[in-house]
Amino acid sequence: MKIHHLNTGTFRPIGGRLVSDGVAGFRGGRAVSHCLLIETAKDGLVLVDTGPGASLRPAGRMLELAFNVALRPDYGPVESPSAQVKALGFDPTDVRHILLTHLDPDHIGGLVEFPWAQVHLSQTELDAATAPRHFRERLFAHGQWAHGVQWAPIPDSTETWKGIPNARTISGLPDGIVAVALPGHTEGHTGYAVATDAATTSDWILHGGDSHFSRLQIAPEAGHKVPLGIKAFYRLTQYDAVVQRQTLARLVDLHASPEVRIICSHDPRHIDSRESTT
Ligand SMILES: [Zn+2]
Repeated sequence: MKIHHLNTGTFRPIGGRLVSDGVAGFRGGRAVSHCLLIETAKDGLVLVDTGPGASLRPAGRMLELAFNVALRPDYGPVESPSAQVKALGFDPTDVRHILLTHLDPDHIGGLVEFPWAQVHLSQTELDAATAPRHFRERLFAHGQWAHGVQWAPIPDSTETWKGIPNARTISGLPDGIVAVALPGHTEGHTGYAVATDAATTSDWILHGGDSHFSRLQIAPEAGHKVPLGIKAFYRLTQYDAVVQRQTLARLVDLHASPEVRIICSHDPRHIDSRESTT
């Protein structure tokens, strides 16, 4: 399966090098919204997350103010997922499936650009959207799916994939795409492993969503030189600290496997080396 790496939303967060490694000074940092666009043989295009979309509106005016002042979105229509699908020579209607890591506003704002697509997400995450039980779930902006979404919840399983629990293939999609549980940021947060060669399933890309915000968090060889602002944001946005640490420990172990390349949503270093993978 050919995999394209899209940045569907650039942010220039305040804090400079406190929030972005490789940045000098304390003014604008840099974060991206890393989505995958997968070409399948029989099932059309599959998009993993949609990014913030053109009209991101966090739930509540205070949140919206904090979002605009602290995270400083710096993207326009050119970064929208449908514009990038077209730029690659496809028609947006070719996107037949969307896989969501979770329901935070900066990951699902582009849903409205693909109203015909089936939208897969964990059953737990969908339950949290319809009946929030935790303050964390009140951050979801229900208006982002008010246009009508064809939800396709992924049921739980007892299987594992390379040590990550709750592994399952997805109805209507090739076996080379596997959903795995990466909870902690939200309760139903899910990662997606994609085999770069569907026939051999020997090499994989794992989209880890917001299970971590910097590759340095899962790379012991980097000495865990994670910027302070990222550490703080990681804690501030957690659903459950213990579960979140457990997920991170699993990703640290998996990072040692040469056959798996792990990416997360907001680290710009991943997108800077975004050559398409065949
Ligand atoms: Zn995010």
